[in-house]
Amino acid sequence: MARIAFIGLGNMGGGMAANLAKKGHDVRAFDLSQDALDKARAAGCLPAASAVEAVDGAEAVITMLPAGRHVEATYTDVLLDHAAPGAILIDCSTIDVDTARRVAQAATERGLIAVDAPVSGGIAAANAGTLTFMVGGTEQGFGRAEPFLADMGKAVIHAGASGAGQGAKICNNMILGATMVATCEAFALAEKLGLDAQRFYDIASVSSGQSWSMTSYCPVPGVGPESPADRDYQGGFAAPLMLKDLKLALEAAASVGAQVPMGTRAEELYQAFVDGEGAGLDFSGIIKTFK
Ligand code: NAD
Repeated sequence: MARIAFIGLGNMGGGMAANLAKKGHDVRAFDLSQDALDKARAAGCLPAASAVEAVDGAEAVITMLPAGRHVEATYTDVLLDHAAPGAILIDCSTIDVDTARRVAQAATERGLIAVDAPVSGGIAAANAGTLTFMVGGTEQGFGRAEPFLADMGKAVIHAGASGAGQGAKICNNMILGATMVATCEAFALAEKLGLDAQRFYDIASVSSGQSWSMTSYCPVPGVGPESPADRDYQGGFAAPLMLKDLKLALEAAASVGAQVPMGTRAEELYQAFVDGEGAGLDFSGIIKTFK
């Protein structure tokens, strides 16, 4: 069992740190929120008074923070100077590819090993320990990170070199955003053409229009397996987080000169949705735009 520092105990990190503690690791947890620290203590972690205290002597440091600027500040202000020599630094936050590569490079220059390891799966998967991790880094980094990630998830996949985990995550979510929009507009059109939603689902779900957005997360209430549509679009994957990931995808596309017309349109539609009624809704609630 290892000593692990866990920084960022929010919706996702709280459950992830708890699962590491459940597996018997010595988890030194830090967050800016006292409430998050109290929950971590109740879940078997040892709350630290600062990020510096949390990382002291830890063989692995896991970060689960909101965005790239939080990760970069934590690496610059804390990890690069205070992580134990040879520690493995694992950033599970969803952030831009450039920042992921920059912090990993800075860590390597200090004799540390760093990987980006964003996750697929939401809060329920974080709590249940069934996340999928996509890891960017060297073979050595992947080998060091894999056992810790396996204690929090059901799949750990080496995506490629540094930044490749973030690349896989935002490309995957760009597909998800675009297919959700396409699925929503198709159901709305089908309804206006006089088709019954269940009947259209029965046809499209076994035809070439099938996608995860349709058959695992159908945006129409009462159709397909249980999903946020059945709870008036509460819970699930919040629309602002989908918007964040689409913006990261567009940023990455611009940096390499890639054309992403569907991702671009999905971002525009999610921006409008989040500016309006979508701020507090699941991302499948964008079907309301087409009603
Ligand atoms: P969150 O806002 O609930 O949690 C972030 C936590 O980080 C907060 O508790 C905050 O207090 C803490 N924090 C911020 N700055 C800090 C600092 N400098 N030091 C210590 N703690 C600090 O966010 P979340 O939903 O847990 O998401 C975390 C990351 O996971 C994000 O990058 C998000 O995009 C990604 N993600 C989220 C989901 C989801 O469904 N929520 C799914 C997949 C990926």
